[in-house]
Amino acid sequence: MLERTLVLFKPDAIQRGLIGEILTRFEKKGLRVIGLKMRCFERATLEEHYSVHKERPFYPALLKFMSSGPVVALALEGKDAIEVVRKLMGKTNSRQAEPGTIRGDFGMSFSNNLVHGSDGPEAAAKELKLFFGGAGELVDWKPATLEWVYSIEEELR
Ligand code: UDP
Ligand code: MG
Repeated sequence: MLERTLVLFKPDAIQRGLIGEILTRFEKKGLRVIGLKMRCFERATLEEHYSVHKERPFYPALLKFMSSGPVVALALEGKDAIEVVRKLMGKTNSRQAEPGTIRGDFGMSFSNNLVHGSDGPEAAAKELKLFFGGAGELVDWKPATLEWVYSIEEELR
């Protein structure tokens, strides 16, 4: 019923001091943070993460970019969380992303576009396992605001 999704703050977001701004958007929306870590992820992890794009011309540059500095990985939970996150992020090309979205408000680049979000349930499951696969890495907790963020009767039963 509640969905889980994987978000990455890419190296440009960290370098530009936008961790707080971006995290706040997801929190304020009402998504529950159930996992959070910062790492310079191993190249093998990033290769696996973007393996669907392996044959694409931008793949080498994308891997170089993603391994150029620290990345924040975030696991979020909420009703329709995958779609909600993708909407908050905006279009892939930041120049075309709508104002009000993360990419639309903070970015000017197609490649250096600040955030990643899983694009469907299958990807979310795979990516959550890749970045938060260890025991106890995802934290199940009940926000005190849950019954104000949702109509429990209508939406969470
Ligand atoms: N990307 C790029 N050039 C392209 C397409 C994609 O540099 O022509 C990068 C960009 O950082 C993008 C990532 O590769 O976020 C993954 O591409 P995808 O199409 O999955 O976009 P997303 O799901 O991130 O919006
Ligand atoms: Mg994608």
